[in-house]
Amino acid sequence: CGIVGYVGTEDAKEILLKGLEKLEYRGYDSAGIALANEEGVHVYKEKGRIATLREVVDNSQRGYIGIGHTRWATHGAPSQVNAHPHQSKESRYTLVHNGVIENYDHLRREYLENVEMKSDTDTEIVVQLIGRFAQEGMTTEEVFRKVLSLLKGSYAIALLDNHDPETIYVGKNKSPLLVGLGDDVNVVASDAMAMLHITNEFVELMDKEIVIVTRDQITIKTLEGEVISRDSYIAELDA
Ligand code: GLU
Repeated sequence: CGIVGYVGTEDAKEILLKGLEKLEYRGYDSAGIALANEEGVHVYKEKGRIATLREVVDNSQRGYIGIGHTRWATHGAPSQVNAHPHQSKESRYTLVHNGVIENYDHLRREYLENVEMKSDTDTEIVVQLIGRFAQEGMTTEEVFRKVLSLLKGSYAIALLDNHDPETIYVGKNKSPLLVGLGDDVNVVASDAMAMLHITNEFVELMDKEIVIVTRDQITIKTLEGEVISRDSYIAELDA
């Protein structure tokens, strides 16, 4: 299971698929990507191999920002519907997640009584919660920090907001996640290996931190919103 993300100046599809292939060694039962452009966010996901996912990706769609996921099912059987990315109501938010949300059932009963779930995953609760709080007028960054602070368990998460197709929000707790830095491009990955075809300069993310990632900037914050500065390092790996 693994996560990738890309925001830059090239078409993200092939970069994300290649990144997911580099993560295949971690094991998975399903895979998916989301690609954002002026028309909205396009989600492609399938049970099975990344080769199967490649067959359903619409090659005529281009986008300079996207996220990808390989799933190792913990909640809900391996299936197309349970594969990530998952989306909030009306598809404003699109999210991928590695890990286990231990209090998902509590959160669903507390906040999402009237929301119909499309999948059987713990993950969908997270994106539906983000969608719900965003309707109450908070910014996406505020909502993201609030929802992550409600979660118990392990997560590496990447989020796209349909209203702002230039930003990837990521966060982690007890699951690995790195941000990779390039020239007019930034990336996200569970493992540096997945993005060595783009950059070898990475910033490590600590538990209960988020990063707001755009093409030319990354901002690390605590869940309380305090800005953190951290040096990058060069990954000494062979691509
Ligand atoms: N718990 C999530 C699910 O079952 C994520 C599993 C993973 O880490 O891939 O969908």
